[in-house]
Amino acid sequence: MSCPQCGGSHEGHAIPDNRHPAGTNPSLGTPISADGTPELGRTYEVPARQGKAVRVARGQTLRIVNTHGTQVCDMWAFNAEDVSEHLSMEHMRAWIDRINPRAGDTLVTNHRRAILKFVGDTSPGVHDSLIAPCDIHRYRNLGVQGYHDSCADNLRLSLKAIGLVSTEVPDSLNLWMNIPFNAEGTIQWLPTVSKPGDVVEFVAEMDCIVAMSACPQDVIAINSNDPQPVHFSVTA
Ligand SMILES: [Zn+2]
Repeated sequence: MSCPQCGGSHEGHAIPDNRHPAGTNPSLGTPISADGTPELGRTYEVPARQGKAVRVARGQTLRIVNTHGTQVCDMWAFNAEDVSEHLSMEHMRAWIDRINPRAGDTLVTNHRRAILKFVGDTSPGVHDSLIAPCDIHRYRNLGVQGYHDSCADNLRLSLKAIGLVSTEVPDSLNLWMNIPFNAEGTIQWLPTVSKPGDVVEFVAEMDCIVAMSACPQDVIAINSNDPQPVHFSVTA
């Protein structure tokens, strides 16, 4: 039986859910290792428009570099023992008493447990927790015909590449995404304010899997209409 939402196989599950990508890209075939375990200290690329997933053990540091400065990186984190527990923006905001996180904040899951500590940021600290990761429906609404890479699919594909599935696409922490809001709550969609080589650092508070998507949004200006790669590394 094929899924009425995506046309793909249900692979044994009876109810349509959010696990199926709407299309594919090389994120599916290029994991950093079979199960996402990194070589410590090695720098990996998240190619433009693609996603990667990496295992970060408790106490290890994940460093993500905005190599070109203009790129948004959508980020998710899942409990390595149970991917139904994941970093959650709505729970995080209640925890940090702020809309968007900054260095020093603890980032929590949908079970309100610490999963990452945001420990370092060389950029001006402009990140976004409000906007859903881009998906095929977003691009349809923007007038795109046919398939378009998306952060939602990059999450699905990069997890599948290391043998995992999330039935949900949780809300992402959108690193460097510049969505200013005013006192009336009106938002704007603007290019990043970071510079080439800006780095954010997170320490894992539990064994986790972090997925990153170099956002392929090229219709509006959040990536200066020119998606670029980002880089990351994990250290002890
Ligand atoms: Zn995106």
